[in-house]
Order: sequence, then structure tokens, then C-alpha cells
Amino acid sequence: MKKVSAKKHLGQHFLNEPSIAKNIVNQLEYKNKDLLEIGPGMGILTQFLYNKNINFKVIEIDSESVFYLRLNYPELNIIEGDFLKLNLEEITKNKLSLIGNFPYNISSQILFKVFENRDKITEVIGMFQKEVAERVACTKGKKKGILSVFLQAFYNIDYCFTVNEYVFTPAPKVKSGVIKMIRNERKELECDEKKFIQIVKAGYNQRRKTLRNALKSFSLNINLEIDELLQKRAEQLDVEDFITITKNVQQ
Ligand code: SAH
Repeated sequence: MKKVSAKKHLGQHFLNEPSIAKNIVNQLEYKNKDLLEIGPGMGILTQFLYNKNINFKVIEIDSESVFYLRLNYPELNIIEGDFLKLNLEEITKNKLSLIGNFPYNISSQILFKVFENRDKITEVIGMFQKEVAERVACTKGKKKGILSVFLQAFYNIDYCFTVNEYVFTPAPKVKSGVIKMIRNERKELECDEKKFIQIVKAGYNQRRKTLRNALKSFSLNINLEIDELLQKRAEQLDVEDFITITKNVQQ
């Protein structure tokens, strides 16, 4: 059957290597009975998920891919549409696992959506471009970013493995990385969440500066602990440190 032609604007890079697809699927712990695959394309991952004893759905934006999937996987539950616009409650009232070789052009939006739906999405297995995967999984140092801090507050994140560019059609310019995210025990932050987000963003927006400078616009209660943290740069802080700072923002 004719293959789907890759469309750049949809971030389509089709994986050709079934053994790698199988490795990705094997990372799933099946924490939930409900599983959603984002962007199945021609179904290289889907073939290993299909027919399992779970409530499995896929969401695909590209009508040509949907046509291909309907022919090849007649039993598959396909939602034709945009994951970013999807109301997850419509998928299931229960908790949900996500999997995908994600479209790289919307990686950050997908991850923000996970963050926003963290009480629903308890497991994510995903392939991103390597730099994004490393950033999300990184707990220390220069690679860390805003998303790492937000996501690591609520998920235990592991970098699983790297995938070379030549196993895709068309080959992307960069390598890819697979990560696994499992929801941790934290119910909510022990501080005001809006302020936490503001503090993390302010710290990272001026990531070369010490936090003393980057957080100038906030009035903080200064004590020994805060004073020490303010001498550092955002990337040197972990989630707990940002919570400590947020707790000391004056009303
Ligand atoms: N999983 C397949 C395809 C990966 S390419 C494989 O590994 O070969 C990324 C896929 O995501 C493409 O099929 C693309 O059409 C789809 N996609 C892109 N943006 C999307 C969106 N907003 N919502 C759902 N699917 C999307």
C-alpha cells in the first residue's frame, strides 16, 4: 500500500525500525487501563499496542495518515484531530497513559499540556528531539530549563535511550531521545503555584544572572537560606529550592 507522504508542517518523521518501536512500547508500565497514542502516523508504535487488553485510542491530525490507519487497523479507535485541542475528559474519566513519537514542532506545547493535566496523566512514554528529552529529564546543570522544573515537580523522569536520525523518513536534522515520566506522590506544591511559576520563569528568563538579580522585581523575606539560594543561578536550583523561594515571596 502507498505510504503516507511526510509533511514538514506536521513534524512528520516516520520511524522505520520496528525493533526501536518495540523498545519504546516496552517502556510502558501500563499504569492505567486507558492509553492514548499521539500522532501514530503509519502506526509503527501502534502495531505493538493494538489488540492489548486496554482501552487504547490514537489521535492523529493528518487525514492521509488517518486514511492509512483505517485501512490497516480497522479495529483501531482513531480520533482525527489536534491533541493540543483535545479535552482529555472525553477520552476517559479515568487516569490516562500517553505514548508517542511526538511531533517535534509542538513538543513544548505537549509537555505543557501534560503539566496542566498532571492529575489525569500519570504516565508518559515519549520520543522528542534529543535536546528536549535531555532537558526534561535533566535534574542538574546547564541543560535544565523551565519545563524541567515544572515537570520534575510532579513526575519522576528518566531518559531511556537515544535514537539516531537515519532510522526515520525523512531523517530529522537532530537525534532523538526517549523519556519516561511517571507521576510522583506530590499532590500539590507546598506553595502558591502561580507564584512558583512566576519565580521559575523569572529565574530562567535571565539564566546567566544570579537569582538575586533575576528576581529583583519580587520582594522576598531574606533569611540565611534564601540568601544562599539567591547567590546561585536558576539552573543550580532544584524544585524544592524554588518552593523555598516562593514561600518567602511577600504578599
Ligand atoms: N508515530 C509515527 C509518526 C511520528 S511523526 C512514527 O513514529 O512513525 C509525528 C506524527 O504526529 C505525525 O503522524 C503527525 O501527523 C502527527 N501530528 C502532528 N501534529 C499533531 C497534533 N497536533 N495532534 C495529533 N497528531 C499530530
